[in-house]
Amino acid sequence: MIAVTKTVDVDVINEAIELGVNNIGESRVQEILRKYDLVKDGPTWHMIGHLQTNKVKYIIDKIDLIHSLDRLSLAQELQKRAQQHNIFVNALIQVNIAEEESKYGLYGDAVIPFIEEIIKYPKIKIKGLMTIAPYAENPEEIRYVFRQLKELSEELKKREYPNVEMKYLSMGMTNDYKIAIEEGSNMVRIGTGIFGRRSY
Ligand SMILES: *Cc1c(COP(=O)(O)O)cnc(C)c1O
Repeated sequence: MIAVTKTVDVDVINEAIELGVNNIGESRVQEILRKYDLVKDGPTWHMIGHLQTNKVKYIIDKIDLIHSLDRLSLAQELQKRAQQHNIFVNALIQVNIAEEESKYGLYGDAVIPFIEEIIKYPKIKIKGLMTIAPYAENPEEIRYVFRQLKELSEELKKREYPNVEMKYLSMGMTNDYKIAIEEGSNMVRIGTGIFGRRSY
């Protein structure tokens, strides 16, 4: 479980960490930089939001897993900065299963061609897939989204690409995590359910 701490104050984050949270998710680079040195006990940091290419350099050595790899220009920048720091970068490919125009992420049928390009970047280790399901009053309506992401990960597993593992399926948020888990999620991103409603 990733505790999504966007808009949450550092004091509250540290309280959550004391209570046992050890994975935190943020969606904005600026917020990560503001909080990074103030958050205690070195939790695992997840970048779950859209990542602008020109901001990679600020977080490349801080983030343990990037959930939002969705384009080649970002892969190129990750490769370049990882090389400079002599590290590997762990990433999930963000997939827009429901093909919502308002959302980031590759459409399902673009994922295999994308991975076939990504394997040319030796500093990038693909650890799985991530999706954000459309909001649904009744999350049963979006069960198919989670099922399709799982199917895609099974297909990718069979292909045994180098540096590509299908270890994590990052899917499910406060409103839909139960169904996501039923469909095979092993990484849920929970904000509201832990910290209450966000006030922006
Ligand atoms: C904000 C956010 C979450 C958490 O959403 P909740 O509904 O508050 O649990 C999960 N994933 C991403 C990508 C987010 O931006």
